[in-house]
Amino acid sequence: MGGLFGVVSKEDCVNDLFYGTDYHSHLGTRRGGLAVKNAEGFTRFIHNIENAQFRSKFEQDVTKMNGNRGIGVISDNEDQPVLIGSHLGKYAIVTVAKINNSEDLVEKIFGRRTTHFSEMSGGEINPTELVATLIDQESTFEGGIRAALEAVEGSCSLLLLTEEGVYAARDWLGRTPVVIGEKEGSYAASSETCAFPNLDFTIKQYLGPGEIVLITEKGIEQKRAPGQKMQICGFLWVYYGYPASNYEGINVETVRNRCGASLARRDTIKIDMVTGIPDSGVGHGLGYASEAGLPFKRPFVKYTPTWPRSFMPQDQAVRDLVAKMKLIPIRDIIEGKRLLFCEDSIVRGTQLKDTIQRLYDFGAKEVHMRPACPPLTYGCKFLNFSRSRSELDLAARTAIQALEGKDGVDLDKYSTTGSEKYEAMVENIRERLKLTTLRYQRLEDLVEAIGLPKEKVCTYCWDGSEIK
Ligand code: SF4
Repeated sequence: MGGLFGVVSKEDCVNDLFYGTDYHSHLGTRRGGLAVKNAEGFTRFIHNIENAQFRSKFEQDVTKMNGNRGIGVISDNEDQPVLIGSHLGKYAIVTVAKINNSEDLVEKIFGRRTTHFSEMSGGEINPTELVATLIDQESTFEGGIRAALEAVEGSCSLLLLTEEGVYAARDWLGRTPVVIGEKEGSYAASSETCAFPNLDFTIKQYLGPGEIVLITEKGIEQKRAPGQKMQICGFLWVYYGYPASNYEGINVETVRNRCGASLARRDTIKIDMVTGIPDSGVGHGLGYASEAGLPFKRPFVKYTPTWPRSFMPQDQAVRDLVAKMKLIPIRDIIEGKRLLFCEDSIVRGTQLKDTIQRLYDFGAKEVHMRPACPPLTYGCKFLNFSRSRSELDLAARTAIQALEGKDGVDLDKYSTTGSEKYEAMVENIRERLKLTTLRYQRLEDLVEAIGLPKEKVCTYCWDGSEIK
């Protein structure tokens, strides 16, 4: 998915930029990048972070950087920041974007094919470079950013490091967040507010959908007011976001606790303990345990000294091995017990199946699963993920295919909690995962746990609904 961070300061900003960008490492696994600007120009570094942490890759580079303004990115896709020289001046750009109409944009707007774009492996267009080229079609940065946000189908939030200051802009429908922080002498713009507390920033404002601001040492100047329609990704609270972050003023861990509590309120199951698969299931599990008045325990512990983050080897067999090696089961806690697991979601279910089997191998009597969101039925078309979420691989779609014997059926009936088809699909998934019981969160309960009106939250991957 990716995350971005920028700083404008009266002092040197490199330290804040380095740590602030690092606090986005959970959002991407492929590339990290930093750019700063001082009186002499731009300094930029980009590294592959697929097999090493962001900080270890950049700790030497930052000793060579200085400047009062800088931007950084963790990217799940292309190399960033991109340095651009155009009629608007020299600038650096980072994006969190997925552009579904890139071929159209290139053809329609420029009237020619993609040959002048640097290409990524696989011959795709570099989305950040495309956004920059869209910006450069207009006579001002604010006009160009506005035109780019409006033209992109998918999503695009961005930061621009320019002579004037740092432009920060949030996706046209607000699918990904951008939040402004402040402290004495400095401002920051961030995807994740978990980057703020340890750098002494406090939240100044949440940019609204399509809002554009220019950040200088003097303050924040609004260049475009937010639009009315919003479709912030609901999955940020369920899984992608960091527990210490807030979006729209709503904290991630608090929502996860509420998700678990609402699952517990609908349950009458008799169990010995509640748990959550580290790390993303823990907040949901704590919420369940607290509501149900049951102990929360750790039948698996994560080996954090060498598996601190989830990197994504390309090879599925290596990924499965990593998933197994980093979770260590504790027989003393598992043996003879009825365990209830809260999970953020069930995507394909293949690794989960292995995890459940290991619990039985270590003596579990019963294993119950309570995902914090409804079955994922549609693949996301708005955000970039390093992990493939091909629609037909989704556990729900595999179940529907098994039940119907074909694809291309009416999925609406399967998205309605309690319908005959929905129950058959859940039963199929339960059987395949060898769970004692499986009960998913209802969509209305998830939306209530988030606390925003349904029409402001993207729920496409659960119910296929879409606002344009
Ligand atoms: S489809 Fe799902 S993952 Fe994608 S933006 Fe919407 S809620 Fe988020």
